[in-house]
Amino acid sequence: MSQDEVYRQLAKRLDETPNGFPSTESGVELRLLAKIFEPQEAELASAMRLAFEPASAIAERAAVETGAARRLLKTMVRKGQIRVNKGEGKLVFALMPFVVGFYEEQLPRIDAEFAQLFEEYFEEALSTEMADTRPAIHRVVPVEESIALEVEVHPYERATALVEGAKAWGVRECICRIQQRLVGKGCERLVSSCLSFAPIPGFFDGNAETKAISKEEALSLLREAVEAGLVHTTGNYQDGVSYICNCCSCCCGVLRSIARHPTPNTVVRSDFRAVVDADECISCVDCIARCQFSALSLADGAVCIVDETRCIGCGLCTTVCPTDAITLQRRSDVAELPPSDRGAWMAERARERGLAVSGD
Ligand code: SF4
Ligand code: SF4
Ligand code: SF4
Repeated sequence: MSQDEVYRQLAKRLDETPNGFPSTESGVELRLLAKIFEPQEAELASAMRLAFEPASAIAERAAVETGAARRLLKTMVRKGQIRVNKGEGKLVFALMPFVVGFYEEQLPRIDAEFAQLFEEYFEEALSTEMADTRPAIHRVVPVEESIALEVEVHPYERATALVEGAKAWGVRECICRIQQRLVGKGCERLVSSCLSFAPIPGFFDGNAETKAISKEEALSLLREAVEAGLVHTTGNYQDGVSYICNCCSCCCGVLRSIARHPTPNTVVRSDFRAVVDADECISCVDCIARCQFSALSLADGAVCIVDETRCIGCGLCTTVCPTDAITLQRRSDVAELPPSDRGAWMAERARERGLAVSGD
């Protein structure tokens, strides 16, 4: 098989996963894969599934010797290309999607060339895929204090509940901000901003990429992120959430895609919207500067008004209002809840993308 064909085959395999890996006319996605995978790694990854399997099953499908496949799979784990687990005393391996998946795991390896390839791919295909495909990859987790007191809030909608329900916490650097800086764009906001958590005590101990922190440090990071004007987002499902990203619309792939959409509220997964009490507004415009989605303006120079089609319900505007004139209310146009867990999200997204199964 030619090298080009090897990467084409892997691209096709990745596009069969619910997350997707759209093709481009320029073929930039193949150059990106070639930057991450050696040809023999790409060939083996093409034979993998999203479900964990022993090396022997993968080797059989790839028609290679099991010992050689196992050695290569271990190398691929170290390079952040695939996932590993211990099943019944044996190592088992699984394919990772591109985003969210092995792209984020390239944090220790990203360089200017990689960042540029990602940028070209984002502009040519990924941005549209991220904004237009249901269910969305991420959902917005609002600033808790911004939600009106009378509104009932589910535990999965509270950032502090997600953090407090875990037994281990970690922080890692934001690859989106690093990627944007490498292409000479983006912002100067916080880089150590991606919060991870797990149900197993000590889960992040010794992890080079995700530095273990205490629960108090995790809660403090949430407050720091709000102060820095960052939007909390997480996986678009209710149970089993394991991270909170603190994102900006200038660097984050997901928020960049949403912000450039003419009606962000139709593509974002958010159950909230900002509402201004005109009697309380003193037209100070502080909230307008705070909103990353151009959802706020002054009506005839009088009071602040919300463009509901642009509001993603992050709640950041409420944190700077001197008179507490803005609160978040639940949207009445979003009836269904997010998928129950990651498996349900994958099944729904696979259906939406016309895949026969969840991509396994
Ligand atoms: S999703 Fe947000 S926090 Fe996570 S890596 Fe991207 S910008 Fe950073
Ligand atoms: S108006 Fe802007 S800052 Fe306020 S909740 Fe909506 S998107 Fe967020
Ligand atoms: S921050 Fe509050 S008072 Fe100032 S313009 Fe916005 S809603 Fe009005």
